[in-house]
Amino acid sequence: MTFRFILFQLTLLVLLACSKDDTAAPNTTDTVVKVDGTNFLSGGLAEPISIVSKTLSTGATVDCYKIVTKSTPPDHDMGPWCPSNISDDASKGGIWLEGGQVYDVDGAFIKNLATFYNNTTWQMYNTSTGAITKTLTQADCQAAANPNVGVQYKNYCVECLPSYVSTLTKTIYIPVTPVKLTSPVSFGAGPMAVPSIRGIAFNGVVFDAPAPVSAILGAYTLAPFDDAGGHINIGAGYHYHAATGKSTKIIQTDGHAAMIGYALDGFGIYENQNTAGVEDTDLDASRGHYDSIRGYHYHVAKAGTNSFINSLAGAYVK
Ligand SMILES: [Zn+2]
Ligand SMILES: [Zn+2]
Repeated sequence: MTFRFILFQLTLLVLLACSKDDTAAPNTTDTVVKVDGTNFLSGGLAEPISIVSKTLSTGATVDCYKIVTKSTPPDHDMGPWCPSNISDDASKGGIWLEGGQVYDVDGAFIKNLATFYNNTTWQMYNTSTGAITKTLTQADCQAAANPNVGVQYKNYCVECLPSYVSTLTKTIYIPVTPVKLTSPVSFGAGPMAVPSIRGIAFNGVVFDAPAPVSAILGAYTLAPFDDAGGHINIGAGYHYHAATGKSTKIIQTDGHAAMIGYALDGFGIYENQNTAGVEDTDLDASRGHYDSIRGYHYHVAKAGTNSFINSLAGAYVK
């Protein structure tokens, strides 16, 4: 009897001690999934991934992954972007995103631009040979693939080739353990205090801010994305504007959408639809939600939207 009583008291003590621990930190009932550095493909990185101490937007100094990416995917080809002739089929060109839809940039698409955009200024090919007017050199790409497109590139299909950016690297830091904020952080529009890139795919390619489509179209240029949703500019290298399912993904065993990378706050990024082809309806304004397996995580918007996630629900590296 005495022994049982002592055992009971010991059990109670242990229980009390545990519950005290649990209430010491907020939200311990929520699963927090750490970033797994081994998910990144070493072939996409310029140096092995490492852990360094960095300061978060919350002011806390924590362990963060330092990811030095080559912005060159080892898991799929880059390009093509611009077809060469209006007779070219879809295998010779990339895609364009308009009105939430994904269009193949084949020769017929280029030929049809004046009708597509209901504006006869569009004339991106030679009417006698069918040759499509496109950037052919690094200097062309540099001058045309920026928001202030020179007027001499009016009616050009703009593409920058991997050889122009083969030595470029980019360093990205993400917290090893994501920290959810009480209110999300809006993305910046450029080199501001808040980040503009959304996250990083397992192959090291950045999920970028939306492409400045109105500036591109306003100059009567087209800067197609390849079938993986990426294209190149000289400053950023190869980067994604749409998730089309070509980059490495981690299949989930429970029918949940596959994982495709991490957001800048360290929360996982998953595909738009689950294995049954259904999009979640309970996403918050950032495009995230919670489950006990994956913790808080995001689902990307559909490829045609020229976007991924809407804001960062967690702290990012300053
Ligand atoms: Zn871009
Ligand atoms: Zn989910």
